[in-house]
Amino acid sequence: MTAYERQRILLRAADLLEKHNDELAALESWDSGKPYEQSAKIEVPMLVHLFRYYAGWADKIHGLTVPADGPYHVQTLHEPIGVAGQIIPWNFPLLMFGWKVGPALACGNTIVLKTAEQTPLSALFASKLLHEAGLPPGVLNIVSGFGPTAGAAIATHMDVDKIAFTGSTATGRIVLELAARSNLKTVTLELGGKSPFIVCEDADVDKAVELAHFALFFNQGQCCCAGSRTFVHESVYDEFVEKSKARALNRVVGDPFKGGVEQGPQIDSEQFKKILKYIRSGVESGATLEAGGQRFGDKGFYIQPTVFSNVQDNMLIAKEEIFGPVQSILKFKDLDEVIRRANDSPYGLAAGVFTKNIDTANTLTRALRAGSVFVNCYDIFDAGVPFGGYKMSGHGREKGEYGLRNYLQVKAVVTPLVNPAW
Ligand code: NAD
Repeated sequence: MTAYERQRILLRAADLLEKHNDELAALESWDSGKPYEQSAKIEVPMLVHLFRYYAGWADKIHGLTVPADGPYHVQTLHEPIGVAGQIIPWNFPLLMFGWKVGPALACGNTIVLKTAEQTPLSALFASKLLHEAGLPPGVLNIVSGFGPTAGAAIATHMDVDKIAFTGSTATGRIVLELAARSNLKTVTLELGGKSPFIVCEDADVDKAVELAHFALFFNQGQCCCAGSRTFVHESVYDEFVEKSKARALNRVVGDPFKGGVEQGPQIDSEQFKKILKYIRSGVESGATLEAGGQRFGDKGFYIQPTVFSNVQDNMLIAKEEIFGPVQSILKFKDLDEVIRRANDSPYGLAAGVFTKNIDTANTLTRALRAGSVFVNCYDIFDAGVPFGGYKMSGHGREKGEYGLRNYLQVKAVVTPLVNPAW
């Protein structure tokens, strides 16, 4: 298929996804429990934008001509890798579908994508719309199945040329091993995080509280890049804790289909129990429980928005990914100290910086070892902005022009300038 034809299919797909915004959003919220307003007003529109963005790239993927030393014409061809295996998680099923499928199709690959067992529905419907947009049969194949069976089969398959995985660091390690043991398929990984959100001494405390709250509690706290270590300068610490507590107590928890609800249930009973266990561990290790700490109500997997202050770096709640609505607030004195502590993690997915001082912002953005640094904002997931991790948060970048590299092979073609007289 020509690049122009691929572009037209992706553009038609974007139009159809947009037309079915409300059904897609309803499926997404039914499956995952996230507020319908979030699905309908943020996530589906972002998916639509992403398809238009990668449609734009489809006919702009070119190779180079290389000025080689010798009488040769050297060019590079950027070719599709072939069959892309893709395994996605349950926290943003549609967005993860888009981040994986958009660039893979723009580059001309075929796909076998496995959805998470908790959230199979929205990708099936989105795939139906892509076929309606003209995608030929066999190009995009959705598998609903379990990780150790269906997921592992994709990772070990000898005819799958590349694998893109998003999920936990533990499973990412397994996928990498399976790829190494089979055909050495190339692997990109988007894994866990324990991202610092740093509130500096010059911060407007009210704004910092709101942004830090969003950075942690968005999507029931189930974000790989959640700002889950809130570092606050000692000069504004007490006020920050008091106001963060008040904000958490005001967070609207409830039926995700009700207007105005900010937080729905956690994804399943396993995550629900795991989060409550981390909350108990926070209390037992001596952190101060400022708000929440229990299940919310007596039905479903709802958890009260929870805030801990006096958190120390060595506590489990400051080291491990909780993946729930639990904010940990830590105090710091100076920039060198907070840089050292923020970087003292096996993860490096994202970081937040809240300051009015340009020198502080420049120092922190360069010193923090994270794939995304958000200054005075958080969770900006525009289609053009690359996303990925340092250290054990992953390999490679998704979205943006960088995201194309995961789905392209480079072929060098060398031709003598003049036919040699053998
Ligand atoms: P997971 O890593 O087990 O699941 C993610 C995907 O991998 C799912 O599609 C799953 O079916 C698949 N999978 C599982 N085992 C596999 C295997 N052996 N081979 C191939 N594929 C396999 O994540 P989970 O169990 O749903 O959640 C556990 C923790 O993972 C969470 O508490 C959270 O810390 C983290 N998590 C991170 C992200 C993220 O976006 N980085 C998303 C979801 C969960």
